[in-house]
Amino acid sequence: MKCDKCNREAVIFQRYSGMHLCGPHEVADVERKIKRRMRKERMAKPGDHIAVAMSGGKDSAVTLSILVDTFTTRSNIKFSAITVDEGIEGYRNESIPYAKELCDRLGVPHYVVSFKEEIGHTLDDILSRERKEASCTYCGVFRRTLLNRKAREIGANKLATGHNLDDEAQVVLLNVMNGDVERLARLRPSRAQEGLIPRIKPLIDVPEKEIALYAFLKKLPFYMGECPYTSESFRGEIKDMLNDFEARHPGTKYSVLSGFENMIDCLKEKYPQVPLHNCEVCGEPGIQGVCQACKLKKRVKIDREPEA
Ligand code: SF4
Ligand SMILES: [Zn+2]
Ligand SMILES: [Zn+2]
Repeated sequence: MKCDKCNREAVIFQRYSGMHLCGPHEVADVERKIKRRMRKERMAKPGDHIAVAMSGGKDSAVTLSILVDTFTTRSNIKFSAITVDEGIEGYRNESIPYAKELCDRLGVPHYVVSFKEEIGHTLDDILSRERKEASCTYCGVFRRTLLNRKAREIGANKLATGHNLDDEAQVVLLNVMNGDVERLARLRPSRAQEGLIPRIKPLIDVPEKEIALYAFLKKLPFYMGECPYTSESFRGEIKDMLNDFEARHPGTKYSVLSGFENMIDCLKEKYPQVPLHNCEVCGEPGIQGVCQACKLKKRVKIDREPEA
């Protein structure tokens, strides 16, 4: 099949747009969507120091590569990459070298922070001892805290994550299915909060499959393995459901995202942003009293058998 924009062979058929695209036109289409989102939300400004949350997977590789490529001529925007090593044997230890390789190639400083050093235990260790929450709950809570703290320490004023269209549509549906509308409103904070590095998500208009294709076409080093705990999550079920809908009704993921964005102002009116407080234990911004990370950390310690 030929590309709809030129005479080359197509490498993808975008069912949601009805377009066949060759490699160079697919690359251009992905970059157009990412840059459009960045402009729309004014994600990068002169003087910014943007830290990219770098797992070594395709999404973070594309985020870092496109940010650096786009702003390479603007020396007044600085980039760093932060990898959180959760301590997932056979997964994270395999992906970190890819993150390092890309950072070296792009000349971006790379920082690694680990659960083991910061929390005292690897995620594998925590999950082998306590299973009161889903694996992704422990992982997500600690990872958010570590990323925020490291980004602040290195002087970053923005934290870019590699969430793609699939991720964003999944999280919208997840919150709807949990009936947690307030959390849905928090997906688009109205203003920056003291101590909390604002997040930017440049890839949310690009389907996951096309991020992978882009990374492949651009020959970016990225790790292809999947977290062994993925399938345990409710989120995993939502992912399967969305993929099934997308196959039968192309464009479903875009509809979920645009439906959410059309109602976000109403949601924010009903659930205005609440001020954050500094955690009484670690000082990180969070809900009043002790933050969720410290509560979980304490519980994991108590629930552990005494160490020999
Ligand atoms: S799938 Fe869950 S446990 Fe695995 S890295 Fe992601 S959040 Fe952590
Ligand atoms: Zn083409
Ligand atoms: Zn705390």
